[in-house]
Amino acid sequence: MKNLVILGAGTSGTMMANHLVSKLPKKEWNIHIVDQYKTHYYQPGFLFLPFDIYTENQVKKVGEKFIPKGVNYIQQKIEKIDAENNLVELENGTITYDLLIIATGSKIAPQEIEGMLSEEWRKSVFDFYTYEGALALRDKLRDFKKGKLVVHITEMPIKCPVAPLEFAFLADAYFQKKGVRDQVDITYVTPLSGAFTKEFTSKTLKYLLEDKNIKLVTDFAIERVDIENNKIIDYADTEVDYDLLVTVPTNMGDEVMERSGLGDDLNFVPTHPKTLQSLAHENIFVIGDATNVPASKAGSVAHFQAETLTDNILLYINNKPLKEEFDGHANCFIETGKNKALLIDFNYEQEPVTGTFPFAGIGPLKLLKESVFNHWGKLAFRWIYWNVLLKGIPIPFVLRNMSTTGKNINN
Ligand SMILES: Cc1cc2nc3c(=O)[nH]c(=O)nc-3n(C[C@H](O)[C@H](O)[C@H](O)COP(=O)(O)OP(=O)(O)OC[C@H]3O[C@@H](n4cnc5c(N)ncnc54)[C@H](O)[C@@H]3O)c2cc1C
Repeated sequence: MKNLVILGAGTSGTMMANHLVSKLPKKEWNIHIVDQYKTHYYQPGFLFLPFDIYTENQVKKVGEKFIPKGVNYIQQKIEKIDAENNLVELENGTITYDLLIIATGSKIAPQEIEGMLSEEWRKSVFDFYTYEGALALRDKLRDFKKGKLVVHITEMPIKCPVAPLEFAFLADAYFQKKGVRDQVDITYVTPLSGAFTKEFTSKTLKYLLEDKNIKLVTDFAIERVDIENNKIIDYADTEVDYDLLVTVPTNMGDEVMERSGLGDDLNFVPTHPKTLQSLAHENIFVIGDATNVPASKAGSVAHFQAETLTDNILLYINNKPLKEEFDGHANCFIETGKNKALLIDFNYEQEPVTGTFPFAGIGPLKLLKESVFNHWGKLAFRWIYWNVLLKGIPIPFVLRNMSTTGKNINN
């Protein structure tokens, strides 16, 4: 028997287990999946926890529930990958593989910036990219009625690059609802030259920040957090004062990649952007946030990647050439507050544009335009995540490769 080992049972690993269990010949292949935690978190829900929109139970479930019968679930920490010997060292024992899928995701590394991970961590300096961080921030926001709120991105890439912008929009709505918006000053600080990673979207979304009276500080390459004086300071000595700093720290792949000599500077694994095969080892494939491919780090992207990767795994084991198919397709809702959201749909080549999705003219979702329907789409994504996406079931009308139907490509 041969072994296919999936490292990580988050969004990508769980989808791959579900895709492959019915497709790999059972008499030839054993499938194993390894994760350190019992709990599977719905990370997009971390955006809503701080504003009391979601409760704890809406964003977490027992991970093993989503692993199909026929796949061996191993709850252990992965220590090292020995790619020369096709072996993974776990905290207790080892496992050998014929084929390896790395799906270990990315996580925050606040220790990378001087002063960020200090005694002020989760007192006046918060993240919302972890379950614990989002809950601590929820408790802080419940009592925060006055002062300077700074929403900050340390450096790119980060998972769900629109999440900090959404946080700023939701904060505006949250403080308005509490009747204290005039006493809370909101500033959005980014290392980019605009509010969003893509130029056209940045220009289109600028009005939202202006309308909501959210100040924008761009090109801010943070050097340190000065916790004595409540300031963030960048390499050009620009200073931004805060009473409450909500930061997205540096995002990095797991340390396993560094220990195994498989990662880049940020511990992301060099990966072919279209086949998802590791650039260093042909029997290793990489998916989701763990890759270094220039696509957004998002669950929707992992979902599209999983479809291509499933086909490529089958081609690989049948000694056939891989498909260079994955096009960087991303499909993300951007919550703008007061029950409205935008939708963007783009890929490696095509920036987000206006139009309708998935059908030309009729939508029903609008691209790059606020609508209540988009907001319901965003909220429906949680149900889709637990019931469709994780199980590897195709989402109707949402194709793995970006479609130009309904898009105003020349605007
Ligand atoms: C605040 C926030 C909002 C978001 N909003 C959206 C959104 O609206 N839409 C969207 O599409 N995406 C969104 N995302 C991004 C999405 O959640 C991720 O892109 C997605 O979960 C990536 O899946 P993954 O499997 O690659 O990584 P993960 O789901 O993070 O899974 C990685 C798994 O690997 C395991 N692992 C790692 N290292 C080890 C080790 N050494 N030993 C054992 N196990 C290990 C981890 O425990 C984890 O379970 C958001 C993320 C955040 C944080």
